[in-house]
Amino acid sequence: MELYRIRRLYRDSDASRVIRSGLTLEQAQAHCQNPETSSSTATGSVERARTRTRGPWFDSYESMRPRKVRPELRCLKCGALLEDENPLGLCESCTATRERGE
Ligand SMILES: [Zn+2]
Repeated sequence: MELYRIRRLYRDSDASRVIRSGLTLEQAQAHCQNPETSSSTATGSVERARTRTRGPWFDSYESMRPRKVRPELRCLKCGALLEDENPLGLCESCTATRERGE
């Protein structure tokens, strides 16, 4: 079963933090539907104090499934595996061949 975590995001900052994890989709959605999980609707004293010190914020949920690793990069010419992205999309030997004009 896929699990989710709750991340708190701040409008005025790139800082975010995970505040809960290991939730089912239903639990994660229920959390985010709670008015106390967004500065625009929260009325609790803790929540309003947070808004005063940090600015607008809200909780969102995201999957805990590991991010997909990027697809393998392969040389366009010979299909060799590339370690890094490079502008030509060619492996070292094909780049060298190309530079020699062969
Ligand atoms: Zn190559």
